[in-house]
Amino acid sequence: MKYTPVIGLEVHVELKTNSKMFCRCSADYFGKKPNTHTCPVCLGLPGALPYPNKKAIEWCLMIGLALNCEISLFSKFDRKNYFYPDLPKGYQISQYDEPFCKNGFIDLSNKKRVGIRRVHMEEDTGKLIHEGNSTLIDFNRSGVPLVEIVTDPDFESAGEVVEYLKKIQQIVRTLGVSNADLERGDMRMEPNISLKNEGQKELPKYRIEVKNINSFKLVDKAIEAEIDRQTQNPGQRFQATMRYDEKTNTTVTMRLKEEAADYRYFPEPDIPPFHWQQAYIEKLKKDAKVMMDKPSEEEERTQELLIKFSPISPVSAATIARDPKFYSSYGGTASIGKDEFGTPYQGTANAIINQKVPLVGISDEERAKIIADLNRVSDVDEDELNKTIDEVLKENKSAVEDYKKGKENAIMFLVGQVMRMFPQKIDVSKVKASLLAKIK
Ligand SMILES: [Zn+2]
Repeated sequence: MKYTPVIGLEVHVELKTNSKMFCRCSADYFGKKPNTHTCPVCLGLPGALPYPNKKAIEWCLMIGLALNCEISLFSKFDRKNYFYPDLPKGYQISQYDEPFCKNGFIDLSNKKRVGIRRVHMEEDTGKLIHEGNSTLIDFNRSGVPLVEIVTDPDFESAGEVVEYLKKIQQIVRTLGVSNADLERGDMRMEPNISLKNEGQKELPKYRIEVKNINSFKLVDKAIEAEIDRQTQNPGQRFQATMRYDEKTNTTVTMRLKEEAADYRYFPEPDIPPFHWQQAYIEKLKKDAKVMMDKPSEEEERTQELLIKFSPISPVSAATIARDPKFYSSYGGTASIGKDEFGTPYQGTANAIINQKVPLVGISDEERAKIIADLNRVSDVDEDELNKTIDEVLKENKSAVEDYKKGKENAIMFLVGQVMRMFPQKIDVSKVKASLLAKIK
């Protein structure tokens, strides 16, 4: 009897955001002293509330867009409940039935199109460290943003899987959202493998999931070993979770597979659902396309120079580097703007990319002046500012309390509330100073 392997894949990619997914702890945990990057949120202490990381979600959407996914305009987080020592809350915040992205695809060199079932956002767990007879737990990784990419069971060989994985690695690196460093565990892979009889149309009724592999070479070996095992033991095809043992080059059963229902998924009550505006998705789509379009060598050099010499976002740098009109306007204006008019570089980049200023037909000086006006911080009447601050403080007593208890972020929330009350752009540092003076 001849068999065709049926292989699907789940990949976890760790994002390189500054902070964790639901708290403000630094996500740069690798090699740091254990349990130094923790707070009540990522330690799962009672009463701590999660606060989603906007950048991480944006990057998850960008990954989905680069993988040709649809972005659902409605989405939400769910709790995935299970008990394990590396999961302090007793549940992981993940996404169940409304992932951020779904129905994408990626093409392989043999012209095969692999379906991307979903791309969703979740949080990483802590790390268990086994030492002699004891096990230690490091929660520095707990709550680090993790994107899970799930394919349809469209692969037929380990070679196809490895090619796909290299593409995913390249995509997240090109987007600038993950280092995708396998040795550091930035990418963790779980292939699922079953066999189909020759001519069989429907998918097999079972699948073997091989857990947590973190190298392309081992994915290749694990898949080959599992295909061998199933081919030689037709009676041993069952639903299970296994691990790959490198020493013996075999797969070893860990447990019979849990069904989704075992996790008792339910909507995360502490995070409201998301409703995206189509315009926001279109903007991200444009950004992802700019980042994914292979730049010419010259464009790439320009892009690197822009990032090096003027602190603008990678997407802005790529957009400017790839459009000669943007580039010549920005090149002339940015230096003048910064020197004479104090316009921040990103402000200049935004004005040019969004074409808030003529790109041709005026001099660099004239353009710089317009941009400076667009970015100008208006003077604000002291009395008016004080009155507004008093109102904001009265209406946001809990944020004031939070700040007094040591929650530094609360002050930026209050600054935002004050800024909102003014139609014109006002000086952030002045607002912050006045607020602090009143709170203390
Ligand atoms: Zn934390």
